[in-house]
Amino acid sequence: MLEILMKALRANGIKYDFEKIERAYRLAEEAHKGQKRESGDDYISHPVNVAVILSEYGSDTEAIVAALLHDTVEDTDVALSELKKSFGREVAELVDGVTKLGKIPYSSKEEQQIETLRKMFLAMAKDIRVILIKLADRLHNVRTLQYRSPEKQRSVALETMEVYAPLAHRLGMQRMKHELEDLSIKYLDNYGYNHIVEQMANCKEIGNNLFSSVKRQIRNRLEIGGKTIHIESRVKHIYSIYRKMYMGNKDFSEIYDLYAIRIIVDTVTDCYNVLGVIHDLFKPIPGRFKDYISTPKQNMYQSLHTTVIGKEGIPLEVQIRTWDMHNTAELGIAAHWKYKSGIFGKSDADAKLGWVREFLEIQKDSTEPEEFFRTFKIDFFADEVFVFTPSGDVITLPLGATPIDFAYRIHSDIGNKMVSARVGGKPVEFSFQLSNGDIVEITTSAASSGPKRDWLKIAKTSEARTKIRQWFKRECREENIKTAKEELDKELRRNGIFVKDNEKIILYTPILEKMNLSLDEFYNSIGYGGLYISKIMPRLKDEYNKLRGSELEAEELTVASQTKQSKKLAQNIVVEGVSDCLTRLAKCCSPLPGDDIVGFITRGYGVSIHKADCPNVINCSDDTAERLVRARWDSEKGDFTVNIAIIGENRIGLMADISSQLAAMRINIHNLSAREQKDGSTLTLLTIDVNSAEHLQLILNKLSRISGVYSVERSGN
Ligand code: MN
Repeated sequence: MLEILMKALRANGIKYDFEKIERAYRLAEEAHKGQKRESGDDYISHPVNVAVILSEYGSDTEAIVAALLHDTVEDTDVALSELKKSFGREVAELVDGVTKLGKIPYSSKEEQQIETLRKMFLAMAKDIRVILIKLADRLHNVRTLQYRSPEKQRSVALETMEVYAPLAHRLGMQRMKHELEDLSIKYLDNYGYNHIVEQMANCKEIGNNLFSSVKRQIRNRLEIGGKTIHIESRVKHIYSIYRKMYMGNKDFSEIYDLYAIRIIVDTVTDCYNVLGVIHDLFKPIPGRFKDYISTPKQNMYQSLHTTVIGKEGIPLEVQIRTWDMHNTAELGIAAHWKYKSGIFGKSDADAKLGWVREFLEIQKDSTEPEEFFRTFKIDFFADEVFVFTPSGDVITLPLGATPIDFAYRIHSDIGNKMVSARVGGKPVEFSFQLSNGDIVEITTSAASSGPKRDWLKIAKTSEARTKIRQWFKRECREENIKTAKEELDKELRRNGIFVKDNEKIILYTPILEKMNLSLDEFYNSIGYGGLYISKIMPRLKDEYNKLRGSELEAEELTVASQTKQSKKLAQNIVVEGVSDCLTRLAKCCSPLPGDDIVGFITRGYGVSIHKADCPNVINCSDDTAERLVRARWDSEKGDFTVNIAIIGENRIGLMADISSQLAAMRINIHNLSAREQKDGSTLTLLTIDVNSAEHLQLILNKLSRISGVYSVERSGN
């Protein structure tokens, strides 16, 4: 077996590490010792053949070594760590990748499922060589399918047709694809297959005659110019005829490309020259000419196609291409193992090569073909993960998806009733991030109280979130309303909005009207997550500012109620940029000399003066804020009157203590009264003269130290 392999490797002219390959062979031979293929051959014949197939695709040393060892970890005592030690991390990773792909369960269900499976292959095989080894493995297995049981033949053939052949097609590997298809259809429809093979045999003589005559005519015309051209009769691909006959409902005689030749030349110019000659020699069938050179197919395929009427009116399909195009057509992605500088060179930079080109683009800068493939990662499906149900169905989810997303994807009821999740048999948190190949198991319980609100934050898919919200909308109206009220209150406070319950409805009304919701519906929507607090908050802030802005305006109406005292104080204020204006102290915050103040230009009543930290000022809307002006106290001297409220113990002598303390500070008292309150404490109200905010603070401090005093506060004027 070793000789067969070495011969194949030497034939393709690549510099292999023969010593390493031989070591791999020895290890595989030893490990599989005693194991037999169903054909009766020693098992080692399989890995060797897989390696030979890969060598035909110009594969590198690592892929050959991995191919030789690809079944050892799964089927023998050899451990992955051992491979890593003996052959390096790269080989170990390749073998590991092939082993993992082998475990992807296959069940032929619907188109979609199959496509997902193909994508998953690409996503799971981080290194394209894993796919190439897997394809070679599958090719050898279908080549030796005759030794398996009829059931096995059928299932392997079906999987090959649905997963592997399209995968080969996607990678542009036409030769691989055709062989996989032809071998599969033989087992899937043996009758149809044999029918075509017989008919083709009948045509063989006609074909041979036609081919040699056409070849002679073309050579006569073309080789005069000294050009070297290669002409071959095309090996018929049985499955393409099968498709045309059984799916396209055509008779064998109606198949146009039954007789076909392929002409391979050196340059693109030659391609068009040859086409000219062909169309000159034979009559082209209209509508059959296709230029895949100027417009390559998605999978990189390039060629000129035409069908002409040959001798005795037999249609003949002609393909014309360069050697580079030929290699690409036959080997696809694998062609670039060997011919990397070929069609991806500068001259073809604008060729449309679809998705394959996209990722080749990323690797353009790496110079060595080996390096190119080593770093060749598939990241097309990087934003998706493919996971399984316990019965092997593939579920595609966005990257970062959790068991919650998985459960709701299966069915709303599964999601709503889920109580625990397992991945690969082990219990996981609901926030666990799923990765490719995970088998996810959801446990449900009829006793489940339904989804939790925080699932809305954990779920990655809008599908899951929508279903969770629907549940809350339906099931938990009362609780929704309650939680929404609490959440909304919390958020209002966090945003500096302090309103009484009866004011809330003023804030909410515009939103309720716009969305046509009742107040309960409004709360319910917030509760089940249909309406986000973060979305409505800006609107609520606006409404709040309007509310507060109008309170600033409302101050205008208090002019009449200005006391003599505050009128006097207001005269000691300088408003910047405004001279001789009417000023008055705002009632809402009653600023005192020494306080930081700000002016508000009212409509028609001069400037009202607020404390700089007055809530009405801080929370006013942008429009209102434009009417704020800077203001300061002109002189902080001069007495003014304040009211003070003292709450204290109901004891004889408290009033005396208060008045003697004030007397000691030489404070002029205008008024002093006391009354007992419901709770048994005494409320003392006094009106005194102070000369500044600091002075007032000093007085308040002194009063609060009097024995039996609970609180001392300045009260409204
Ligand atoms: Mn195998």
